[in-house]
Amino acid sequence: MKKIALHWQILIAFILAILFGIFLKEYVNYVSWMGDIFLRMLKMIVIPLVLSSVISGIVNIGSEGSFGKLGLKTIAYYLATSSLAIIVGLFMVNIIQPGVGMDITSIAVEEPISIDRPSMGDIFIGIVPENIFYAMANNDFLAIIFFAIIAGIFISKIDKKSNIILADFFNAFFELFMKITMFIIKLAPFGIFGLIVKVVAEQKDFGNMVASLGLFMLTVIGGILIHSLITLPLLTRYIGKAKPFKHLSNVKTTLITAFSTASSAAALPLNMKETSEKSGVSHKITNFTLPIGTTINMDGTAIYIAAVVMFIAQAKGVDMGLKEQVLILITALMSSIGTAGVPMASLVIITIILEVLGLPLELMALILPVDRILDMFRTTANVWGDSCGAVIIAKSEGEVLNV
Ligand code: ASP
Repeated sequence: MKKIALHWQILIAFILAILFGIFLKEYVNYVSWMGDIFLRMLKMIVIPLVLSSVISGIVNIGSEGSFGKLGLKTIAYYLATSSLAIIVGLFMVNIIQPGVGMDITSIAVEEPISIDRPSMGDIFIGIVPENIFYAMANNDFLAIIFFAIIAGIFISKIDKKSNIILADFFNAFFELFMKITMFIIKLAPFGIFGLIVKVVAEQKDFGNMVASLGLFMLTVIGGILIHSLITLPLLTRYIGKAKPFKHLSNVKTTLITAFSTASSAAALPLNMKETSEKSGVSHKITNFTLPIGTTINMDGTAIYIAAVVMFIAQAKGVDMGLKEQVLILITALMSSIGTAGVPMASLVIITIILEVLGLPLELMALILPVDRILDMFRTTANVWGDSCGAVIIAKSEGEVLNV
């Protein structure tokens, strides 16, 4: 019998999961463990993968002496696309105005929000880890990347014999985790089934939610679709001279994983695998651009943040002029740099911006009922943005790709 291709298996799992979540709600616990195990396996490998990929990436680039240029190019590109995303978010929320005239009292405030809010200064100081093991245990990606960059740079400065040993070691270490990723990908249909069943079964009163927050959801999803299906493909086409939709089809398992886990960090191993093996971007580029993109480049999140902050201001009847919106752009951009790619990470950034703008934090409760669903959409856009970035940067470095 012919084996069904992985993407069809995933699609079937997805549809079955929705049906299961709706009609067999009470049996969710019998299957949701598959999702938990899938997610745990991805989380299990992501830290060693980031560490080894960035170190081996820099060691390999370092031997060609172009690390500084590539690093700056990557960071500049990601900051530029995040800014574009925030502008799309602001544009959508100004046109649709989902919060205007909203009866704030009709929405039940779910639970009190208590979130640790780091200041902007703390975020930047926090890039330098005090203890690398603590950073790894706490999924502090920015600190791990910083450490890996330093280690990578200095590996090329030690004597030849040690240099070769360490370069070989980190290359081999990276290869090992890519192999494990390949195995985890095979489990994706089961994992995605378990994750989606749980999300569907946990949605309370979806109809009611859509009625009250429908316009807001439309604003966010509309912005994400415009950015993902128009802006990013145009950049990939005209700046990267690559075929965006062929690339989209190559990374579909990655994107579905991002959607079902709502964590771009969890989708990173798959993104590295598909972007390099299917679209042909060299490991030299993916090892470096994708881990960095996962941390500093969150296009979907950027759109969401802009929409939420404006929505809250509109619901409260606070007028937001150009000056305030530029402030949103700058704070959203800066604070999203230090945000980990985990579910609901945006909420931390939103509290920072609300504070900067002097808007009431309690109103964040307005959007909590739909946060999980929108998290799935924004995470997919985050991961897609990283992957397009890797393609564009690879092309700008003269690589010949399959897309
Ligand atoms: N869940 C998102 C991610 O992992 C971050 C967020 O917007 O909450 O990329």
